[in-house]
Amino acid sequence: MTEIILCKYGEIVLKGANRKFFESMLVREVKRRMYLYGPADVRAAQSTITVDPLDDSFDMEGAYDEVKKIFGLVGVSRALKVEKSMEAITAGLRAWIPGHLAGLKTFKVEAKRSDKAFPLNSPQICDECGGVILSTLPHIRVDVHNPDVVVRVEIRDTAAYIHAGQDKGAGGMPVGSAGRALLLLSGGIDSPVAGHMMAKRGVKIEALHFESFPYTSERAREKVVDLAKKMSLYCGEIHMHVISVTKIQEAINEHCEEDYFTLLLRRFMMRLANMTAEKYGCGALVTGESLGQVASQTMEALNVTNVIADRPVFRPCIGMDKEEIIEISRRIDTFDISIEPFEDCCTVFTPRHPRTKPVLWKVEREENKLDVDTLVKEAFESLYTIKITRGEAETTGE
Ligand code: ATP
Ligand code: MG
Repeated sequence: MTEIILCKYGEIVLKGANRKFFESMLVREVKRRMYLYGPADVRAAQSTITVDPLDDSFDMEGAYDEVKKIFGLVGVSRALKVEKSMEAITAGLRAWIPGHLAGLKTFKVEAKRSDKAFPLNSPQICDECGGVILSTLPHIRVDVHNPDVVVRVEIRDTAAYIHAGQDKGAGGMPVGSAGRALLLLSGGIDSPVAGHMMAKRGVKIEALHFESFPYTSERAREKVVDLAKKMSLYCGEIHMHVISVTKIQEAINEHCEEDYFTLLLRRFMMRLANMTAEKYGCGALVTGESLGQVASQTMEALNVTNVIADRPVFRPCIGMDKEEIIEISRRIDTFDISIEPFEDCCTVFTPRHPRTKPVLWKVEREENKLDVDTLVKEAFESLYTIKITRGEAETTGE
């Protein structure tokens, strides 16, 4: 008698010719992440991935928490696995009932028999299992319409599973199934949420952070690394590229009209993002912008930066209220890090009166006071990469 994990994946997105592609991607991801908790057999059958521990060293609690963070799974549950005979099933049920149904008032049993050679049919399995439950727990009743719990007995090819209730999975699509995108990651609340939302749609996230040392501190960058570490628990390994925009900011500060500082910086960020995306094979950019949240996020201001981008810019937070963004950031556990009080390059040299309705030609006029190509080229040369995996961060020389 062993406990296993059942992971259900959504049927809708898996229809047709793509089914095998998604399925093998998901199985690979579940295998990779279950490996951290001990030896287990991971395989897919009938829209379910089963995680079957091979020995007692497998950390079931840890593994169960982990599967809830895998995109592409819609529901997860722990199940009892027993031999495929009515004796084993009823014995298993008796042992399992007290821990799972105690205190509940009503139940029903649903049986599914994919092995048609099994001697009892589904209604007969339900009858017999229901009888065992009623005789084990004297106060519980059957309610087929609105039960407190549905006990499921599944007769599969190699074994029988007993389970009740299901936790919500992370949903979405397997990471990597929708390509790769470059997330502009600041230390704020919004961009980690934006990255999470795109990863949920199957996008492999690569990150780009701009620093402005000595105006921004070492600690400010550490904060962003901490955010990426949290994100990697869902998104998988994140390569975070860091580019210094100190010289760009100093040049803007020295030569351009103050009202345009932020917009000019953001246009430089876009140019550097294009180049980083090109170099690392990212098909789109992702930002945490939300319409009207700050002066640089009005429709007019977004247009001034958007025209620089040479690939799609995904802004999943664009129509969300701050409260809604915060709700997600709490759920993915980035909120407490995001609110640590460290400066961002966007918060140094900020204009007192930023333009909320900028006119493109005026922005370009200011920009033409600078040697844009050289500034961009030199900044891009400062790029280095930090590889972030599940709580670890390793800087590579690049
Ligand atoms: P956030 O909470 O994500 O910081 P914000 O509301 O503070 O967002 P801005 O500072 O204007 O907004 O930044 C808008 C977006 O630009 C961010 O969501 C992020 O995608 C990108 N961005 C801002 N600062 C940086 C940075 N230092 N490095 C990389 N990207 C940045
Ligand atoms: Mg910010």
